[in-house]
Amino acid sequence: MSKKMKVVAITGPKTTEIVEVTRPIPREDEVLIKIDGCAICTWEQRVYTTGKFKMPFLGGHEVVGHIVEMGKKVRTKEYAVGDCVAMSVINTCGICYYCRRGEENLCVDSYANLSEDLGMFGPGGFAEYKVMSPHKLWKFNSDLPWEYGTFAEPLACVCTSVHKAHIALGDDVVVIGGGIMGIFHMMVSKLRGAHVIMSEIDDSRRKLAESLGCDITFNPKEKDAVAYVKELTGGRGADVVFNTTVFPEVATQAIEMTGKLGRCIMYSSVKPADPIDLNPDELHNTEKIITGSVSPSIEGFDTAVRLLNKGMINPEKLLHGVYPYEQAQEAFETAIIPGTYRVIIRF
Ligand SMILES: [Zn+2]
Ligand SMILES: [Zn+2]
Repeated sequence: MSKKMKVVAITGPKTTEIVEVTRPIPREDEVLIKIDGCAICTWEQRVYTTGKFKMPFLGGHEVVGHIVEMGKKVRTKEYAVGDCVAMSVINTCGICYYCRRGEENLCVDSYANLSEDLGMFGPGGFAEYKVMSPHKLWKFNSDLPWEYGTFAEPLACVCTSVHKAHIALGDDVVVIGGGIMGIFHMMVSKLRGAHVIMSEIDDSRRKLAESLGCDITFNPKEKDAVAYVKELTGGRGADVVFNTTVFPEVATQAIEMTGKLGRCIMYSSVKPADPIDLNPDELHNTEKIITGSVSPSIEGFDTAVRLLNKGMINPEKLLHGVYPYEQAQEAFETAIIPGTYRVIIRF
């Protein structure tokens, strides 16, 4: 008789259900993971709040677990049964134009067939077990609290973003927004030798950023953000700006406060996805680069796990709470409260 497992599915707006499904069986070249916990990210929060996605939605892509079974043909000395692992659960096809170029975060097939074997849709981290390909796992330092492993994926997204910004020692970097992604951008930029300025309206988030090493913080409701950044940078504007907020008007500010030769990275999705004005003549004259960053590259994932494993990034203060899966509904309700950092569902 096939074994069963519990999963937490979103079945409608503001509705989660604990569903029993057949536990997947790893093929000879796959690994079975017992999931320890999975964090609730913005994507899952959005589906939970709106109910807009194919249902039932089995979310969860910020996952940590440990290996309980390795297929006969898995040949790696990187890890073994019992090891704690961080996981990259979003598919990459390996053969599309972008995968072939090593830009697998832009894979054209990355959201295909996720959890469809369970009769659900989504990356599948809110489950007791998950079958994984060995190359999508990273050994996680078991001396650390297991909860830290759920930060590998969001930190990987940030490492990928920071990589694009080509930060040089002493560069002036502005991070707009002090949520978990803003804080991680600040921390990784500091590791790269930047002088970091954060724009954030919330007092407690600014205090947290300062306690974690941010050089300057300010409230953009009290100061003209563009003018202030120029004032702090001798009139030049910043070398790098990371916009981690969703508002189109802030995207405009981000571009304006980027100096000549600067790099402006649109990290977050922009909602509503409204166009903004852009002055091509200004781009001509300033040679500033405006780009975006989405999802983690393999290299970004690898970097993130190394930073966590060695204690170079400590995510402790970004962890709001851990809920057993039986209290998943409460976990989601907590996660959607504005200002909450990460909420983890434990399995
Ligand atoms: Zn995420
Ligand atoms: Zn691909």
